[in-house]
Parts: sequence; C-alpha cells; structure tokens
Amino acid sequence: MNKRILVVGGGTAGWLTAGYLARTLDAQSHGGVEITLVESAQIGFLGVGEGVFPTIRKTLQRIGIDEATLVREASATFKQGARFAHWRFEPGGGQPDHYLYPFQATQEPSGPDLQHCGLSGDHVATPNHACHLDAVKLAGVLRNAATGLGVRHVVDTIDQVPLTEDGAIAAILGRASGRMTADLYVDCTGFRAQLIGHAQKSPYKSCRSALFCDSALAMQVPYERPDASIASYTISTAQEAGWTWDVGLNSRRGVGHVFSSDHTDAETAERVLRDYVGKAGDGLDIRHIKFEAGYREISWRKNCVAIGLSSGFLEPLEATDIAFTEVAAVTLGTLFPWGGEMETAARRYNDLMRRRYERALDFIKLHYCISERRDTAFWRNNVEASTIPDSLHDLLDRWRFRPPDAIDIDPNADIFTEASWRYVLYGMGYRTDLSPKADACRDFNRARPAFEDIRQQAAYAYQNLPTHRERAESAQRRGFGEG
Ligand SMILES: Cc1cc2nc3c(=O)[nH]c(=O)nc-3n(C[C@H](O)[C@H](O)[C@H](O)COP(=O)(O)OP(=O)(O)OC[C@H]3O[C@@H](n4cnc5c(N)ncnc54)[C@H](O)[C@@H]3O)c2cc1C
Repeated sequence: MNKRILVVGGGTAGWLTAGYLARTLDAQSHGGVEITLVESAQIGFLGVGEGVFPTIRKTLQRIGIDEATLVREASATFKQGARFAHWRFEPGGGQPDHYLYPFQATQEPSGPDLQHCGLSGDHVATPNHACHLDAVKLAGVLRNAATGLGVRHVVDTIDQVPLTEDGAIAAILGRASGRMTADLYVDCTGFRAQLIGHAQKSPYKSCRSALFCDSALAMQVPYERPDASIASYTISTAQEAGWTWDVGLNSRRGVGHVFSSDHTDAETAERVLRDYVGKAGDGLDIRHIKFEAGYREISWRKNCVAIGLSSGFLEPLEATDIAFTEVAAVTLGTLFPWGGEMETAARRYNDLMRRRYERALDFIKLHYCISERRDTAFWRNNVEASTIPDSLHDLLDRWRFRPPDAIDIDPNADIFTEASWRYVLYGMGYRTDLSPKADACRDFNRARPAFEDIRQQAAYAYQNLPTHRERAESAQRRGFGEG
C-alpha cells in the first residue's frame, strides 16, 4: 500500500513541503506517496516573510515554479543582498553608517587569495540573487504547483490530535472531515504547533537570552510615485531597541520593525516605525506580531515532523525561516522512511536541524554582539559576554588572526557560507590581525588585476544595466529570460 502523508497547515511551510515531497517522493506515480494537505479557513496563515535565500530558486524550480511565475504571480523582485545601516555606530556620530552584504562568494577556487588581499579593501563579486516576494501570493503559487503535482487539498480545522500510548499521533480530527490518518504527519501549523507542541509536547528551546527581539510591527506601504525606485536589497536599519526591515516589491514596500519588549514598549516602537516610513505611512494600519526566538530540539517525534514556524523561529534578520523550511523539506525527502525504523531517520533529522538552528543563531547574534553601539541598554546588553553562545565566542577567537574559511563551515549544518560571515564581520569593522602572515601572502600582485576587473565590471553594469524597476517590470510583462 502507498505511504500516506498528512501535512497540516497551508502557509509557505505547508505548501512548500507538500510540493517538494510530492515531486521528490513521486506523488503522481503508482508506487509513490499519497499527500494530503489540510488547512484551516478560520485560522489563516501568517502572511509575512518576504525575503528569501538564493536557494529558493532551485527549490521552487524542483516544484515546477520558475522565476517568471514568481515575478508575475507573487510580485517578486530581485534581491541581491542586504544593506545594513547603523548596526556598527549609532546615527549622527559622523562614522560610516552602512555596509552591504551580497550573496556571492568572495573567492574563486583557483584564484589568488582575495580574502587576504581584500580585507582592507573591496568585496569581490560574481552575480547571484534571491528575491523579495509577496508572502500571501507566494502561498497561492505554491498551492497551484503542489496540487498540480498530485497533493490533495482539504479545507478544515483540526481540533483534536489523539496520541497512541507511546506518544505517536493516532489521527487528526477535522471539524468537517472527521478522523484522518497517515503514516507520517507534517506539522506546518505555524506558531500554534498544533501537533508537535499542543499534542506531543515536544519542548521549545528559547534563545531569548542571546536574541532579545520578541515583537514585530508590519506595514504595507504603497510607493509614492509609480516610477519610484525599487531597492535591490533588503534595507535593515538598526534602531534603539531592534531594527527595521524595508523590502521593495514591484507593487509596494513591506516595512516592519522588530524589537525587544524588554527594552522598549509597543507605542515607542510604533513611533520609530512611523518615523522611519515618514509621510508614505500616514493612515496605514500596523500589524502586531509576537514571537519567541527558539526552536524544538526534537522536531521529528515518532510519526510527526514539524516544519516552518512550528519547528522554530530565530528572528527575521537574515531571512532564515523559509530557508529552514527548504532544508527541512529536502532533508525529510532524503530521510523519508520508506521502510525500517522511523526512529533512525528521526534521530538523524533532529541532529541536523538542531545544529542548523545553533549555527544560524550564532550568525544572527554576530550582527548584534560585535556592534560598537552603546547608546541604549539594548545595544549594551547585546555585547555582554554572557549573552553570546560559547560556540560564537569560539568562532570569534579563531578569526582574530585569520578570516573565516571553508574549514569553519559544516556543509550539512551551516546555511551561511564563510563569505556570509566575512561580509558581516568586516562590514562591522571586526579586526582580524593578518600582520603575522603578511610576508607569507604572495598573492597581492595577482589580486590587484582581479580587483580592478571587478571594479570595471561594476562600472560597466552601473552604466549599462536597466534600473531594478525597469528590469522587474519588463520581466513581469515578458517573462524572466526575455526581460
Ligand atoms: C515579523 C516576521 C517577519 C518574517 N520575515 C521573514 C523573512 O523575511 N524571510 C523568511 O524566510 N521568513 C520570515 N519570517 C518567517 C515566515 O513568515 C514564515 O517562515 C512563513 O510565513 C511560514 O510560516 P508557516 O507556514 O510555518 O506558518 P503560517 O503562515 O502561520 O501557516 C500556518 C498554517 O497552519 C494552518 N493551521 C493552524 N492551525 C490549524 C489547525 N488547527 N487546523 C488546520 N490548519 C491549521 C493555518 O490555517 C495556516 O494555513 C518572518 C516571520 C515574522 C514573524
């Protein structure tokens, strides 16, 4: 008999997982799996989360969604990285106020040691991009693709989740559909965590001692003019007790403020957001969202796997959550228990996901803990040694005399590359003392022409390429490849 999977939840996590598994486990063939997705019309989905990783392109392609579809149907624009403003110094001090974080590698494998030669100079780039997209529309695009791959769609609210004696899920009980059973249940019910949390009581490990932010305010801001420019990066601006995000879609901007309620109150946070948005935000509604930075150390328990917000959420900085959904879906597809013990696959899955959360936590904390800002308690508390995980202390120690390298990265656990670490470290002015190695580096003469080449490519691109709005609009009219 075919293996049956029940995915509960129809947000980004539910539809992406259902579509990916349908494609990978071959839901359309005779011997493949049967996948049903149940989502509640009453509860709705979160509908924020508009910045993603470059990996999304490959993941969506696998489900049959190309970039042209994203541009047309999910208002997607091209995200080439992030611009971090005021993370190192507070505004008004006359010091540098921003750095850029692109998605590309800094090093050609056989080229000169550009990271050594470039540490006090430019970043090196070969183009790579992700996208910004409308989270509500994305769920619709994913739903169409997943149902096209054979996923059955049930609209119903799950009220009860009875367990077996050993803590596995016995069934889910829908208000309209009654009892539904499967070999494997995937909990994509968002912060509610209806299966893994409410029913199975798999503990949620809080990371609040390192990542203080626990609240967000979100706004959808129309462009002031139809030809207003669209940023090709997420703008992350540090604030007194958190930071604001600013994402440019082709139809509107998504703007929000993430903050720590231990360090400011909602009224002040709203004022910070409105000041940031200015007149364009007059009269616009603001959505309030609460969260707890953390994750489940066991997100696959017995016959239930949690994916998306039900598994964990660190915070929106660095847009890690949809990337976590991608790696979780891929990992589940690989470890899917066609036969044998479910426990063996679950142990491996839990180990990988726990390490991924730990490593991403370090990377996000890095943005806060090497800041030189001391203007508010939020920033002073963030650099206290006791708030920095030991694993991050260890990494920072390693990088006192050499830059991050592939040797520091675990390809199974890290969703950030050594280049990502370098962009943040050196964008924030972290000091790696290369003087002991200075005489040993013989690459300066080879590096200079490589840097010059990049400068020329950048100047050419600046002169000759269309603006981001022109590019996004032509891609919307004519498709990605012909834009
Ligand atoms: C402020 C903020 C900003 C963010 N920004 C980013 C970002 O830039 N990039 C990024 O990658 N991520 C971001 N995220 C995370 C991103 O929003 C989520 O990864 C994404 O929305 C997926 O959520 P989900 O599918 O897990 O849950 P949800 O969107 O909440 O979906 C839950 C689904 O479960 C269903 N459901 C719940 N209970 C039941 C029930 N009892 N019965 C039936 N169905 C049920 C609901 O109807 C819904 O369909 C952000 C999150 C926040 C809070």
